Amino acid sequence: MAKAQAPTNGTTANIDRGPQAAEQAKEQAIGSGKEKPGQLAEVSNLEIVRHYFDRATAHLQIPEDVCAVFWEPYREVSVQIPVRLSDEKIHVFSGYRIQHNGARGPYKGGVRFHPDVDIDEVRALASLMTWKTAVADIPFGGAKGGVNVPAKKLTTDELQAVARSFMSKIDKVLGPDRDILAPDVNTDAQVMAWMMDEYGRLHGHTPAIVTGKPISLGGSYGRDAATGRGCVFCYREAAPDLGLTPASTTFVVQGYGNVGSWAARILQELGATMIGASNSRGAIRNDHGIDANELYDHLEEGGEISEFGAAESVSVDDLLEIPCDLFIPAALGGMINEGNADRLQCKVLVEGANSPTTPAADEILQGKGVLVIPDVIANAGGVVASYFEWVQNLQHFRWTEREVNDKLGHIMRRGYRQVCARAEQDEIPLRDAAYVVGIERVVEASRTRGYI
Ligand code: NAD
Repeated sequence: MAKAQAPTNGTTANIDRGPQAAEQAKEQAIGSGKEKPGQLAEVSNLEIVRHYFDRATAHLQIPEDVCAVFWEPYREVSVQIPVRLSDEKIHVFSGYRIQHNGARGPYKGGVRFHPDVDIDEVRALASLMTWKTAVADIPFGGAKGGVNVPAKKLTTDELQAVARSFMSKIDKVLGPDRDILAPDVNTDAQVMAWMMDEYGRLHGHTPAIVTGKPISLGGSYGRDAATGRGCVFCYREAAPDLGLTPASTTFVVQGYGNVGSWAARILQELGATMIGASNSRGAIRNDHGIDANELYDHLEEGGEISEFGAAESVSVDDLLEIPCDLFIPAALGGMINEGNADRLQCKVLVEGANSPTTPAADEILQGKGVLVIPDVIANAGGVVASYFEWVQNLQHFRWTEREVNDKLGHIMRRGYRQVCARAEQDEIPLRDAAYVVGIERVVEASRTRGYI
């Protein structure tokens, strides 16, 4: 990787910032706490990721000047997205693409469309991607994108205009060997298709520029289910040590979207019983079981979760208190926090979402004896399948769904076992172990390249 390239399209970049700038960023991040609009917890997502990074680098005794390189992203692109909406007015949104570290390969990471997106959240998610791709041991760096747009309130045409405008403004820092986009909250296969098309308009047909595409446009079989499936692979590895079997498992899903609903449907195939679920509009409970497929269909058809017939409507807070074996947070960051972690009554928590658990909540859960399988490995299935899609696109070849799922299982099991082995060896929690494994790999790659 070149040491400091100036971006060419009027973008902003962080170039060669030393420990001092890192210190300033630290102060800003720590002071940024609760005041942010939409923040759900006592700390921001950036504080969460940096807290765990600090703990892992202290454990590894990595010198401060080296830590400073990874504390901040390599490159930050911030763009304006003016779009005329159906009220005939121009609305100006902010878009970000943040490339955290590319020592192990091209930058890779999703794009989120959500009104609460801000640059700090995207920074947090970008660095998480760096550690995640390293823990999964796939040849990518870490990046993330986001636009602070109320995606759910837009028409299809408006959404397309946002997606195309965003792509046309960040295209110069992208490329199939540079930085590859993927779906995240409120960006699905259709959004990826528009982005691929826009990139193709500017640079020629390049399917490998985004993953999570529709199958008809070079998407990979199994990609849509992969993050949820990856969570289930991790749970299956962990369950025997806790005396649990998938068939006897009861589980609750917070955030019945892509990740949550796929995890639920796959667990149900294995015989597990879903007894609670929520989305941004409500929550439901039925101790005798909620059919994961029927709930998915109900929501796909535009139904309200509270109106799903075969369950009782409860408050989103009460969902936390449902006694169960497995709780899957699969919504947004900071949803399990200081204020509510004590209410959880599960044995295992598998983090489908990114940064759902704050450090304070993590301590509370540890105190309660809950096993937390951290996001860095638990939800890596999505980027692993994205890697498969990218490989297939580069080869102009397609694997069967079975091949994808088998290869995904291999990588997820390997990653989870490596994290467990490190946790045991160093006598640290799984989350610390995951960060330690990821950071070690990235530092080694950076050193070997001569980047640091
Ligand atoms: P999605 O938009 O499909 O689903 C998010 C779900 O969370 C929706 O059902 C939404 O209604 C719900 N939600 C939002 N606010 C909520 C609240 N306050 N209470 C309860 N539910 C709420 O998004 P997704 O792609 O499934 O992503 C979910 C999480 O998983 C995010 O944190 C994302 O970063 C992470 N993730 C996604 C992928 C992927 O491949 N999609 C990969 C890795 C991590």
